[in-house]
Amino acid sequence: MKNNRRSFLTKAAALGLASTIPFQIKSRPKAKELPSLKGRKVLFTYGGWDGHEPLKYRDYMGDWLKNEGAEVTLSDSLDSYLDKDLMTSVDLIIQLYTMSQITNEQEKGLVEAVKAGVGIAGWHGGLCDAFRNNVEYQFMTGGQWVAHPGGVIDYSVKILDTGDEVTAGLSDFRMTSEQYYMHVDPNTKVLATTKFTGETNDWINGCVIPVAWKKIYGKGRVFYTSLGHNLDHITQEPDALEMLQRGIKWAGASKFEKTENLVNPIYSS
Ligand SMILES: [Zn+2]
Repeated sequence: MKNNRRSFLTKAAALGLASTIPFQIKSRPKAKELPSLKGRKVLFTYGGWDGHEPLKYRDYMGDWLKNEGAEVTLSDSLDSYLDKDLMTSVDLIIQLYTMSQITNEQEKGLVEAVKAGVGIAGWHGGLCDAFRNNVEYQFMTGGQWVAHPGGVIDYSVKILDTGDEVTAGLSDFRMTSEQYYMHVDPNTKVLATTKFTGETNDWINGCVIPVAWKKIYGKGRVFYTSLGHNLDHITQEPDALEMLQRGIKWAGASKFEKTENLVNPIYSS
């Protein structure tokens, strides 16, 4: 009894103390430590439509990866996917290559590497509005952009899975950017979502579409977020950037960690 009383008093004191902590200090729930990118071999392919700022992202994210200790190979050519030695040596592929065309041989080089266990991560159109004619590629990524009603607009992102290491402790946030309406594999692990208004297309009022997900293709981890039409859209929102960077770290451990079962059907059979 005495111990219980002491425990109560200790908790009360802690609560009293907590009330004096400024609001801007966030206490984030403990999540599984994300694996470091130190020593990871990363291939970063960039190109395609200029509106998605491949060069700016190459510099910003390339510097971040190097700062995290990754060994980064930057490539503006999809022919990197034909380089068997490179593709078997890398741990992670980051791709920002909007629309464009990929040859069957380049696509095969990419998907076979991921199938064998290389992780892949990307954002916005650089991963999921690339190579519209290539269905095996889309089978790997788990989603394809189909519309961004209204162009650059204000919208909300809801963190759906607060238990996942990529999104643990992150808060819902607002974006001023393109809100991607996507066709998404319903067997992915969705981490964040966004709800559409009917302002531009009245029939999608209330539609909820994934903003970030994890999935597996063969043995490879796939991470995607639809955020990031422009670099400053994502760097202006700390939780958005944090989610992307954590997702990259998670995918970067594809060859080194066992992956949990990510198949999570939303329909009953
Ligand atoms: Zn865009």
